[in-house]
Amino acid sequence: MKRVQDKVVLVTGGAMGMGQAHSELLAEQGAWVFAADMNQEKGQAVVEGIRKKGGKADFLKLDVTQEADWNAAVAQIIERAGRIDVLVNNAGILIMKPVQDTTNDEWDRIFAVNVRGVFLGTRAVIPHMQKAGKGNIINISSIYGLVGAPSAAAYEASKGAVRLFTKACAVDLAPFNIRVNSIHPGVIETPMTKDLLAIPEQRPALLGPTLLQRPAQPIEVSQAVLFLASDESSFVHGAELVVDGGYTA
Ligand code: NAD
Repeated sequence: MKRVQDKVVLVTGGAMGMGQAHSELLAEQGAWVFAADMNQEKGQAVVEGIRKKGGKADFLKLDVTQEADWNAAVAQIIERAGRIDVLVNNAGILIMKPVQDTTNDEWDRIFAVNVRGVFLGTRAVIPHMQKAGKGNIINISSIYGLVGAPSAAAYEASKGAVRLFTKACAVDLAPFNIRVNSIHPGVIETPMTKDLLAIPEQRPALLGPTLLQRPAQPIEVSQAVLFLASDESSFVHGAELVVDGGYTA
């Protein structure tokens, strides 16, 4: 028996980086994955790769900041699969700026994707999870949602918001048997961090106090997503799972 056999999972930001890795691993472990993203070309390629390996996956075009997109995506999943077992709120954007240089527009853009997107997605799936009598929501926050770091003021505020939103949802949704948890990755090698990690002088600053002294590969976070998506984590609720190579130790 695979670890998430026959679970219906929606992964946002599924076209690249960690979202791609989550989608591939969950499909490999038996889930029917709906990989949702704004980037149709890359998202479609991920889905085709999964299908070639015998997995079950579909692409959905979704801008997480748009309520209408969420309604359409969720309706499509319900129509095709009949339910949504797991939502992985993974899509996010990063703007590296100290607070004094952050513009209103940058602040709003970060919050639209990283916070409003998570809120809209959560609210969109709740009625279907309530109806099913169970559900599972996994929010991707960051170590930057736990501790301060230089030049990422808006991003850190947004990831801190995701951390506490997760706990608020854990309280509100427990009566409906909907589990809600957050994951806090450290520095992970993805398109988001590729350019920063490529600059040798920038690398130590980005890795900061990472005790293992290396960035992680996306799959190392996907393993945590798999655990939370599976029934192995049936009593894990309102938790923050830190996957950071010791950054916050
Ligand atoms: P990435 O930039 O490599 O990929 C992000 C994906 O999200 C892309 O496919 C992009 O098209 C999609 N996306 C962006 N805006 C979207 C929107 N409005 N609607 C739908 N899709 C959208 O990023 P990543 O490094 O894989 O990060 C994934 C998540 O992990 C993010 O929430 C990020 O903040 C978080 N995170 C990343 C790191 C890291 O070091 N890379 C560390 C901690 C947390």
